[in-house]
Amino acid sequence: MFLQNINETINRACPILFEDKKDCCGCSACAAVCPVKALRMVVDEEGFYYPEICTDICVKCYQCVKVCPLKNE
Ligand code: SF4
Ligand code: SF4
Repeated sequence: MFLQNINETINRACPILFEDKKDCCGCSACAAVCPVKALRMVVDEEGFYYPEICTDICVKCYQCVKVCPLKNE
């Protein structure tokens, strides 16, 4: 069971937090909850902050998805 869970985690992709900027309010809850600091808030050309995932660091725990208020309305 433990190994099965590890394999499922390894095989899944890093999360996509949003496809469109309108689906992110820039609250940074995802960046705050990330246990390995794989998420950082990056300012766009209009001065709004959006999260960016470093896929090299991400451990695919999906805590960022669970905490996002726009994904859990
Ligand atoms: S899946 Fe986990 S490790 Fe990856 S960015 Fe989200 S919170 Fe961080
Ligand atoms: S938690 Fe959701 S709404 Fe907040 S910054 Fe992250 S992706 Fe955007």
